[in-house]
Amino acid sequence: MKIVQVKDKKFTLSIPESEILKGVTEVAERINKDLADKNPLFIGVLNGAFIFAADLFKRITIPCEISFVKLASYQGITSTGRVKEVIGLNEDITGRTVVIVEDIVDTGLTMERLIDTLGTRNPKEIHIAALLVKEQKLKVKLNIEYKVLSIPNDFIVGYGLDYDGLGRNLPDIYTVVE
Ligand code: 5GP
Repeated sequence: MKIVQVKDKKFTLSIPESEILKGVTEVAERINKDLADKNPLFIGVLNGAFIFAADLFKRITIPCEISFVKLASYQGITSTGRVKEVIGLNEDITGRTVVIVEDIVDTGLTMERLIDTLGTRNPKEIHIAALLVKEQKLKVKLNIEYKVLSIPNDFIVGYGLDYDGLGRNLPDIYTVVE
């Protein structure tokens, strides 16, 4: 069993890069079919989705564009708890087919917030592409059409995802060892 140390924690190999890329290729093929002639605008969520977004985008063969946003935590409290502000979206998305590209959906609150924010800018439609979904932790109803893999509740790093800023450069995905 391959073990890596990231900062003060040990992580064990859970999803090899080859398996991730197989799933990414399948999702890309579905998007190529579903969104042909729609000139979709992919919106990657930094930092975690940068590797997924790159691997997915390379496999898109229809006319398309890509941009990135960041989510900044701020001190506001809503009924859903912690909220995040979407920053860096400069494109006019009016009438556009948008595909949000996210690394991992946990409770789903971040994704819900993102969809609400983008929705106020009058896109034609919004689709979700998520590398990983922790199905058992989902708190909100989301239509995740383009999911690469479902995973259990454990904390993971690698393939763009970090532990305290580190581990994003690991090509495979690793799960924390309790
Ligand atoms: P949600 O709002 O869905 O609860 O949280 C989504 C965000 O939490 C992700 O974009 C990611 O930044 C972070 N996150 C959730 N689970 C994990 C995990 O297992 N590993 C890492 N590195 N980040 C996670």
